[in-house]
Amino acid sequence: MTDERVKFLRGRIRDVPDFPKEGILFKDITPLLADVEAFRTCIQLMAEKLDGESVSSVIGIESRGFMFGAALADKLGVGFIPVRKPGKLPAATYRAEYDLEYGSDAVEIHQDALAPGDRVVVVDDLIATGGTAKATKDLVHQCGAQVAAFVFVINLLALEGTKKLTPTPIITLLDY
Ligand code: AMP
Repeated sequence: MTDERVKFLRGRIRDVPDFPKEGILFKDITPLLADVEAFRTCIQLMAEKLDGESVSSVIGIESRGFMFGAALADKLGVGFIPVRKPGKLPAATYRAEYDLEYGSDAVEIHQDALAPGDRVVVVDDLIATGGTAKATKDLVHQCGAQVAAFVFVINLLALEGTKKLTPTPIITLLDY
């Protein structure tokens, strides 16, 4: 049953070659979002794989993590917290930087978004190098909270991004 559902979701991911630049095979999740059955199945699978894990909130990483994260938060009956690119959040923030192929980037969270002792689930559409997710884990720690699990729709296995996140549990629905 789970295999069938995973196959169904796989059929809703569109490969777009050479986007946003040459040599990148972009995994487009918009067909999945546009299909209500696929989107519901995706969120249902995430919730099942969390297997009753008790969490205080769900964090979504800008911007595709917002869509999956907000729906999962609703499903789990907890609040949603956005992690955003620099300069987007209005109140006082913590910041964590991560390396890109050329240069670096950063993510931010509101300082009062989490309380010490909170346990959160971090959600994004895809893990590639794992840099964004690792920086998000750093933000959670700056708040004095813990990441109970990461959830990704897609894992690009060749880039071994999940290695950056050990020993935190990682749930991925579709491996490529
Ligand atoms: P990373 O920090 O390298 O794990 O990159 C993860 C972020 O980049 C996620 O928010 C993804 O949405 C985006 N991303 C990286 N590679 C791809 C790809 N091949 N297709 C779609 N999104 C990607």
